[in-house]
Amino acid sequence: MGRGEVEQLYPVMVERRRYLHRHPELSFKEQETSAFIADVLQKAGVEMRTKVGGNGVVGIIKGSLPGPVVALRADMDALPIQDEKNTDYKSEVPGVMHACGHDGHTAVLLALAEYFAGRRDLIRGEIRLLFQPAEEVCPGGALPMINEGALDGVDVIYGVHLWTPIPVGTAASAPGPMMASTDEFFVDIHGRGGHGGMPHKTIDSVVAGSALVMQLQSIVSRSVNPLDPAVVTIGSFHAGTVQNVIAERCRLAGTVRCFNETSRELIRERIASVVEHTASSYGASASLEYVPGYPPLVNDNEETARFFKVAGGLEGIKTELTQPIMPAEDFAYYLQRVPGCFILVGAGNPEKGAEYPHHHPKFDLDEEAMGHAARILIALAENYMQEWPQPASAE
Ligand code: MN
Repeated sequence: MGRGEVEQLYPVMVERRRYLHRHPELSFKEQETSAFIADVLQKAGVEMRTKVGGNGVVGIIKGSLPGPVVALRADMDALPIQDEKNTDYKSEVPGVMHACGHDGHTAVLLALAEYFAGRRDLIRGEIRLLFQPAEEVCPGGALPMINEGALDGVDVIYGVHLWTPIPVGTAASAPGPMMASTDEFFVDIHGRGGHGGMPHKTIDSVVAGSALVMQLQSIVSRSVNPLDPAVVTIGSFHAGTVQNVIAERCRLAGTVRCFNETSRELIRERIASVVEHTASSYGASASLEYVPGYPPLVNDNEETARFFKVAGGLEGIKTELTQPIMPAEDFAYYLQRVPGCFILVGAGNPEKGAEYPHHHPKFDLDEEAMGHAARILIALAENYMQEWPQPASAE
């Protein structure tokens, strides 16, 4: 695969990304985006399944030679944010915006559909294209697609995120845990209200709730292995009405982030125990609602090594080992089932206005990053197919 072949795909990638950018759709509501994808695949002569796990589309490109099934994934949903950019491709939908670059991911994967559809004689096995809805909102779109067979028979999966914190021209990944799990929890503490001047006749839910906030901080500092990064945050605490009434109830809400299932399970158990015992030590009762979100994203070691080997050889792209990051990604569900690698493709460039963080109202990409993402994914897929079958591992 030459750089020139992908450069031919670049203008149409930009055109499609800008079209999608002007017409964003929220998670679970990506009907038009899904139809747009299906239209491009049909014109490219790509066999497909639509309405997979909601608005998902699966493109299937079978080669003329036997070999593995290589899956490539792009997400497609936008966010409930008002676009505040001044570009001619800014969002035309009030309050909805592609502020995470999923429009770019979709445009890249559509270009790859056309690229591979025109090279079936060189494909060993199958290229499976997963256009996934609803990444931004748990429970997400990946699991429903998996449940409807999108990953059946797949040997390896690769995905990218165009990423503005990294400068354009650099691509980064890391073996093992790279993105955090994210769980939410809600605690209701029930005491007994009363007069602010007569606390001995009450059970003060504010005092019990305050103690709980402090006790929860001991989970990361005293229970989790200090070599495993983890976060327990209480982001909201609501109680009471006026200064001289002791509040009968309070409600706390928090988020938990970590990088492995051992810590995740431990934290969940400790939260349940700390909530119950802290409340009861104040004579209050408490109920806990714990909502599991996405699991930690864990890259396969060999596939991450393949990324560094293959992308490191591409002209104009520098590779970098990234530290794990705390945002979550439902690409994690695919990696729980098949080996693969998720890659952050640098898209930051202040000269082009691509200097805002993801989910910011002025978020934008350096679109050159789409060309980098396309070349990296093609190179990974082609390298995997070339090296198939894998040498038996010496265990
Ligand atoms: Mn995203």
